Amino acid sequence: MDLDQVRLRLEANEERLSPFAAKTSTSKGRVRPEPPSPVRTEYQRDRDRILHTKAFRRLKHKTQVFIAPQQDHYVTRMTHTLEVAQVARTITRALNLNEDLAEAAALGHDIGHGPFGHAGEEALAECLPYGFRHNYQSVRVLDRLERGGQGLNLTAEVLDAIEKSSKAREDIFAEGWGVPSTLEGEVVKTADAIAYVNHDILDAVRAGLITEADLPESSQRLLGRSHSERLNTLICDIVEASWAASGENGSDEKPAIRFSPQVHSAANELREFMFQRVYLYDRTRAEAERGKQVVIFLFRHFVDHPEGISADFSLPQDPVARRAADYVSGMTDRFAIRLAQDLGCPEARAFRA
Ligand code: MG
Repeated sequence: MDLDQVRLRLEANEERLSPFAAKTSTSKGRVRPEPPSPVRTEYQRDRDRILHTKAFRRLKHKTQVFIAPQQDHYVTRMTHTLEVAQVARTITRALNLNEDLAEAAALGHDIGHGPFGHAGEEALAECLPYGFRHNYQSVRVLDRLERGGQGLNLTAEVLDAIEKSSKAREDIFAEGWGVPSTLEGEVVKTADAIAYVNHDILDAVRAGLITEADLPESSQRLLGRSHSERLNTLICDIVEASWAASGENGSDEKPAIRFSPQVHSAANELREFMFQRVYLYDRTRAEAERGKQVVIFLFRHFVDHPEGISADFSLPQDPVARRAADYVSGMTDRFAIRLAQDLGCPEARAFRA
């Protein structure tokens, strides 16, 4: 049998997706053209490449919100990433969009997060004259640093969706760092917010910061009273409000991925509640501040001692500050804590690694 028949069948299946879906046939492709896989489409290959990276494995020991938790049920960057992929796949499949592209982008979207979540990001942003953003770093890790400095040579659509996955503070649909060029990218961006707001509620309850009864009244009334009810409401609402994306309305106008107005405002209220009660809460901030000091300490250490920077996680031709940032941002929470403790960082002693 001719194995290439498999890929041809998969590509023909893609042609039956929504006219607004991204497809291998319309992809802008890779910077370095490659012969096709006999049994996978291009977006399937990208998904597999991302999943097999060392950077993906390290997500299991990186903070989502609660730093280096000792308890096993807290969300980590890896479980967050898997939840985003699951939500994005449900929505793209329901809307007849390209599930493989959404899954690839979801698996890669947070790969550039440093240790200690947003605290680590803030620290590195202060250290580098040109700043530091995890979404740009995700692209850098996948496109430049992985595979011994060769990068994964991913398709343009996957890199675009990852780069533009980050949102600004003001709205659950805020544009933030750009509008993705594909609807699948927009789905991932929204799936990220749906996933984190919901799993962070459970973690905040676990940490004793809130109870479910504290959630805003609009959220309890419109979104539901349990984790699964809230997720189900948000996902079903997106599918219904974005139905034009499925192409089944027969309209040629480029559709949008969105919530209905009531659910949109309830989701924003819930997100704002989480900022006030959890993300910006003093105890969370105090821990984040310690994490930030650990990252700044490590960055300065490696700028002064570039011989200690692992060649696996940096490019030899880059300036030392860039190399130090690439190395430190690749670290897991526990690796950063142990290393900083060994190097005598006072703030690192408060953590149990
Ligand atoms: Mg995320």
